[in-house]
Amino acid sequence: MNLIGVPVPPGFTITTDVCNEYYRIGKEKMVELLQDDVKKAVAHVEMLMNSKFGDVENPLLVSVRSGARASMPGMMDTILNLGLNDDVVEGLTRKTGNPRFAWDSYRRFVQMYGDVVLGMKPENKEDIDPFEEIIEDVKKAKGVKLDNELEVEDLKELVKRFKAAVKKQTGKDFPTCAYDQLWGAICAVFDSWMNERAILYRKMEGIPAEWGTAVNVQAMVFGNMGDTSATGVCFSRDAATGEDLFNGEYLINAQGEDVVAGIRTPQQITKIGSQRWAELAGVSEADRVAKYPSMEEAMPEIYKELDEIQTRLENHYHDMQDMEFTVQDGKLWFLQTRNGKRTGSAMVKIAMDLLRQGMIDEKTAIKRIDANKLDELLHPIFDKEALKKAKVLTRGLPASPGAATGQIVFFADDAAEWHAKGHHVVMVRLETSPEDLAGMAVAEGILTARGGMTSHAAVVARGMGKCCVSGAGALNVDYKNRTVEIDGVKLKEGDYISINGSTGEVYEGEVHTKAAELSGDFADLMTLADKYARLKVRTNADTPHDAQSARNFGAVGIGLCRTEHMFFEGEKIKAMREMILAENAEDRKKALAKILPYQQDDFKGILRVMAGYPVTVRLLDPPLHEFVPHDEKGQQEMAEAMGVSLAYIRQRVEALHEQNPMLGHRGCRLGNTYPEITQMQTRAILGAALDLKKEGVETHPEIMVPLTGILYEFKEQETVIRAEAEALFAERGDRIDFLVGTMIEVPRAALTADRIATSAEFFSFGTNDLTQMTFGYSRDDIASFLPIYLHKKILKVDPFQVLDQKGVGSLIRMATEKGRSVRPTLKCGICGEHGGEPSSVKFCHKVGLDYVSCSPFRVPIARVAAAQAAI
Ligand code: PEP
Ligand code: MG
Repeated sequence: MNLIGVPVPPGFTITTDVCNEYYRIGKEKMVELLQDDVKKAVAHVEMLMNSKFGDVENPLLVSVRSGARASMPGMMDTILNLGLNDDVVEGLTRKTGNPRFAWDSYRRFVQMYGDVVLGMKPENKEDIDPFEEIIEDVKKAKGVKLDNELEVEDLKELVKRFKAAVKKQTGKDFPTCAYDQLWGAICAVFDSWMNERAILYRKMEGIPAEWGTAVNVQAMVFGNMGDTSATGVCFSRDAATGEDLFNGEYLINAQGEDVVAGIRTPQQITKIGSQRWAELAGVSEADRVAKYPSMEEAMPEIYKELDEIQTRLENHYHDMQDMEFTVQDGKLWFLQTRNGKRTGSAMVKIAMDLLRQGMIDEKTAIKRIDANKLDELLHPIFDKEALKKAKVLTRGLPASPGAATGQIVFFADDAAEWHAKGHHVVMVRLETSPEDLAGMAVAEGILTARGGMTSHAAVVARGMGKCCVSGAGALNVDYKNRTVEIDGVKLKEGDYISINGSTGEVYEGEVHTKAAELSGDFADLMTLADKYARLKVRTNADTPHDAQSARNFGAVGIGLCRTEHMFFEGEKIKAMREMILAENAEDRKKALAKILPYQQDDFKGILRVMAGYPVTVRLLDPPLHEFVPHDEKGQQEMAEAMGVSLAYIRQRVEALHEQNPMLGHRGCRLGNTYPEITQMQTRAILGAALDLKKEGVETHPEIMVPLTGILYEFKEQETVIRAEAEALFAERGDRIDFLVGTMIEVPRAALTADRIATSAEFFSFGTNDLTQMTFGYSRDDIASFLPIYLHKKILKVDPFQVLDQKGVGSLIRMATEKGRSVRPTLKCGICGEHGGEPSSVKFCHKVGLDYVSCSPFRVPIARVAAAQAAI
């Protein structure tokens, strides 16, 4: 700022490297090593300010602040007015002729130093700060409400009582030597790098602890010298909406902390901001001008300079700035500027506006997007004001973003029933299974006690664009009594609950939500991203509805259509159950014949929406037992429908039970043991494509074999598929081009990819199963140990969420290279949940995949990540 001519109080910076060293060698050693440098730096500031640190007659006061590489607003400590003691305050009074200012600065200093450096601030937020207690006492005795109504004698009284409180609590006198004060403050700022809220903030924002904080020691300028002084915070654009409108707040005769602390209501900087504020606050224009004038109106000269400098800073940094300033006796000083934090929609608008304004180029605009933050633009969101008042009950995994609020139901049937009656419901479950799908489809959101980021509930919810919090371990679900207990709060069916799928937070009661809006800038950004991306972005979609939302978000094909999800509606599930419970191939074929028309219809719908784009349909994958009824009522129904005894049904259900179904009778093992399933599905897919061909709709079906581990497993299935296709083409007297390929989700398939690619025409990496089998972590049970692994840093991130590039990624890279060594045209993509996670998408670009496929609601995120990878 100094170099571009912005007035900044002189100072010096102790770098972030020193912070790391401080933690390595300890406080005492560090202070000893830094002594000379700090003294020299202080002397330089003294020279520039023409005053002396610790001097009584001509004192220099300093501020000591943190300065991290990434903005961590309010997370670390600051000390202002440092250098005062009982003598210096008198000197300052003489120097300025302003005793009120001198004593106001002194009482602020003792409080801040006491709280931050001497540890007087109570750990428990509910406990009262001892200094605040004294202030309240003095104000009460005086009969005033605001701090600035206190007079010099009151401020002196405050200092006296503050120091007594310090002595009482710490057993020591308040330090009087300026350098002792300075070292205490420097160390406190370093210490604050490791305070709880800073650690938590870094975790949330992905800021490494190794970065450390710098310490800025700067000559004080004073906003509390009277009515020609002020202090404030301002933004070069609106951080919430992105609107290109300078805005901010200020307070006359105050110091920095007052603006944020909310002790006095700050006033707006610009006239337009002030008018907008007055409208919201219900203040008349006359009242506004008289009592709450903007800085633009109250200090027009200063305002002009402030506006000129904020423009200069934004033009210099080419990004929205968040700035702090102080006016000392009519002179403006800038204390700090940084790239401002912003919402997802502000992020998009600002990047596109800066591009249009010629401040940044296209590539920079794309790089300015935090792809994950686009999520905020896609799902319904909680109303910010409502959220402030809401009570957090617990926290789970942020499995599928968005905001949901509704009445608690525990069962899918109830969800459907309540929904039909017009209720908004949140499904609360220990975990979900495919049987719950119908309930999930109508619920506002899903909350589960168990399961990780790729658990059934999470995957399905993301696919539906439905809010989901999974693995909330504090949930005590009692299905029998239809209650859930969360940390002592007992809720029953019908009670309201709210969940935030973007943060994992669970709230008591109803929290108001509002629908997300897609702005024009968002669409422009997507077009720009496509211009630079090489990777194509497809979607994982099982219904025409999902396929359509993905098309709207710009997906250019389907990378994974999970056919099993189609079996859970209405009549289909009955026919499916008949097929599974059948005793022989003949009966199975009969049941499959009933399913065929349904499947064909489903595929037709999807292929039609995706006209002209490739659609990869995966053959049946999950273990059969997931489809059969486990409750007596369901079993009785099946017995009646099939004309067999209940005992028979029970025995068949038991026979299907597996100890470890994830590694059991599933994937292509199903198709290889029951080829008639593969035949039926082939017929449904290609039959649908042929029907559409007649209507003039262009289709590109790709049939995908799941869970291949051995070349021959694939070959067997391929033979069945191609034979059935030829039979169908002969019957119809027409044909259609299609591909036959495989999922790569078993490590053995990756290791032998050059064998498998001799037959398979494409690979799709199923990184959910590939991660499960590479780590040996059950994707449905990871929640039991993941938090501890993350806490102990055994794992940096959840590997089901962020692709493990070293392990699972190596398998992907190797399999792609091996596969293409025997089939150079081999199309490779990814369809696990990682396909929509930015860092994983970038990896996919790097290893040369052709496309990523993700849930519809992650398509825009993947498109931006793909562009960023290519830039
Ligand atoms: C996978 O395993 O990555 C995959 C996409 O398949 P599913 O999640 O259906 O097992
Ligand atoms: Mg899989």
